[in-house]
Amino acid sequence: MGPITENYAVPADARLPTTHGEFRIRVFHDDETGFDHVALTLGDMDGPDPVLVRMHSECLTGDAFGSSRCDCGPQLHLALDTIRSHGWGCLLYLRQEGRGIGLHAKIQAYNLQDKGADTLDANLMLGHPADARDYKIAADMLGAVGIGDVCLLTNNPLKVEALQALGITVSERMPLVVGVSSENQEYLRTKAERMGHKITDSDLKIE
Ligand SMILES: [Zn+2]
Repeated sequence: MGPITENYAVPADARLPTTHGEFRIRVFHDDETGFDHVALTLGDMDGPDPVLVRMHSECLTGDAFGSSRCDCGPQLHLALDTIRSHGWGCLLYLRQEGRGIGLHAKIQAYNLQDKGADTLDANLMLGHPADARDYKIAADMLGAVGIGDVCLLTNNPLKVEALQALGITVSERMPLVVGVSSENQEYLRTKAERMGHKITDSDLKIE
């Protein structure tokens, strides 16, 4: 099964009580990249199907510092709350910062955005793809925690297609629009207009 290693005497598997409810945390080491990825699960992954799943890509500035340049922090917290109120589900925390280009390059892209570029052009100007994320590890992790049929919490149809191409059944998509502010409204508009995200004009109203 893929590049994940779990052959330790003590499994990286524990209870994780949070302000969003009590989750189970499992860590998967990716031999190809050296990153540790996280699966947070709540309840029974046997279903009933489909299981609510959020694939969240790491965003240090949004997740840890409360940045309003993007919507990652509010999306992370809403996803965990949605899983808790649903009663069962899984959040994969994937270590692909800055849509996969890394923290250093992401902040370089912010520098260009401060000078007027949008989020897509800033990546391209730095010689990076618009989106360098890879969901192979996510598919492997879903298999490892026993999820085969997914209701994916996302505004991004490309994530649905990527998972399906990796053999995961995505039978539903649930939108996740939250945290719109004057600082990230243009960022979200670019995602809607240039990157295929299902975000409507009314979604972009500032809360
Ligand atoms: Zn972010």
